[in-house]
Amino acid sequence: MEPIKAELVVLGAGPGGYAAAFYAADLGKKVILVEKESRLGGVCLNHGCIPSKALLYATGLIGEARESAERGIAFSDPEIDVAKLRSWKDSVIHKLATGVGALADRRGVEVLTGRGHFEGSGVLRVETEGGQRFIEFENVIVALGSRPSIPKALDLGNRRVMTSNEALEVEMIPESLLVVGGGYIGMEMGTVYAALGSRVVLVEALDSILQGIDSDLVRPVLRYAKEHFDELRIRTEVRKLATKGKQIEVTTDGTDGKTTELYDRVLVSVGRRPNSDDLGLGNTKVELDERGFIRVDGQQRTADSNIFAIGDVTGGVLLAHKASKEARVAVEALVGESSIFEAVIPAVVFTHPEVAWCGLTETEALDRGIAVEVAKFPWAASGRAISVDKPDGLTKLVIEPETERILGMGIVGVGAGELISEGVALIEMGGTARDLAETVHPHPTLSETLMEAAEMFYGHATHATSRQKRKQ
Ligand code: FAD
Repeated sequence: MEPIKAELVVLGAGPGGYAAAFYAADLGKKVILVEKESRLGGVCLNHGCIPSKALLYATGLIGEARESAERGIAFSDPEIDVAKLRSWKDSVIHKLATGVGALADRRGVEVLTGRGHFEGSGVLRVETEGGQRFIEFENVIVALGSRPSIPKALDLGNRRVMTSNEALEVEMIPESLLVVGGGYIGMEMGTVYAALGSRVVLVEALDSILQGIDSDLVRPVLRYAKEHFDELRIRTEVRKLATKGKQIEVTTDGTDGKTTELYDRVLVSVGRRPNSDDLGLGNTKVELDERGFIRVDGQQRTADSNIFAIGDVTGGVLLAHKASKEARVAVEALVGESSIFEAVIPAVVFTHPEVAWCGLTETEALDRGIAVEVAKFPWAASGRAISVDKPDGLTKLVIEPETERILGMGIVGVGAGELISEGVALIEMGGTARDLAETVHPHPTLSETLMEAAEMFYGHATHATSRQKRKQ
């Protein structure tokens, strides 16, 4: 069969790949999107963001209903139909994936289902169900994402030891679940299973869950986890897993010494690795870093000038919206624009409550010796937070003292993930604490906590007092 000639191939159809393919098509490029799975959307849509948030939403209602009794409206205990929950979650994925497929169609993006492999700097071999296809391309954007990394010692080849992929399938509700790793995936999935009724124990090797996030933002999440998980053990490492009948025997080593316990299921969520192996990159000039992530410049260009790479496979923060932004930069670079990736990337952990931040964190400022002032507004002083019975929250601003520019924002509390975008916009536009303080926010809303945090900086927030008065 004749090789296909392509102006642009996008390899991988996750939020990086399909965003790149669609944008390039919108700019008039003829695009072929190569994806090994039959469904578009990548990890985010099929095994990540979307199913995890659907499950967090569905199971979050259990806690809401329980808490409601304190407000005089009591519900009886929930009846959980796991098969129905799973099929609802799958229907959400199906609806969105179908939508992505339709959007590809409407733009004339040709989708080729198969596994891609580089034969050289300008040739891709795609293994499809119908056999091999060769594509000679002018440019390619590699958006192959990442997969769960499971240390050898924990990889038993037993389906009772799960990664996030299997945990999101909710095959059953285990009586006992050990979550290994207190990053955002471990915390979110632990929250789902604890709500479903599993006895969840979470172990984290480092000295805190959600490492890297300011400790005052983590505190409410920690409080929730301590209440709803059976146990949370920090500075604890899993040494060994072994199959014991229908259970997994787990040996851990922590501050209280060695323990050996049995669990029905173990979820290993200790990190992810790039899908850059087994891809023929050795046939190109593309370079990898020591962890296997593809090295790119500010325009997402690899060491091979017509090969771009975006998203998880390039490392940095492994988030869907970072992949989608990089997609825009790569496409603009290959049509000859001078775009550079320098965006403020917000991050959200969808725990109860949510944590969100963007720009410079207080911890980072401290580590890097950057002089900043921090203004905080506690949600216990927010009319909206109290009226929706969610006062456990905090909004904080990291401010450059001389210019009063907002360098960073952190929020913990219900809906923090929705609120953080105002911080992103402010930082992107070089906004100051004054801009935020003087912007009227609707009452009663949680967004007022952003304005009042800025007012705290000047020492005159309406609903809280601050110790220091700043010169006007
Ligand atoms: P991916 O989405 O990984 O897509 C890569 C695609 O390439 C896949 O479809 C894969 O099948 C395909 N592929 C791989 N190899 C080949 C090959 N050789 N040939 C052809 N195709 C191939 N991020 C957020 O921003 N918010 C969240 O709330 C969030 N929650 C998450 C929850 C979980 C449990 C997980 C695991 C991740 C979550 N993420 C979240 C991270 C997010 O899913 C990733 O950052 C995002 O999917 C990366 O997009 P990508 O386009 O780089 O790659």
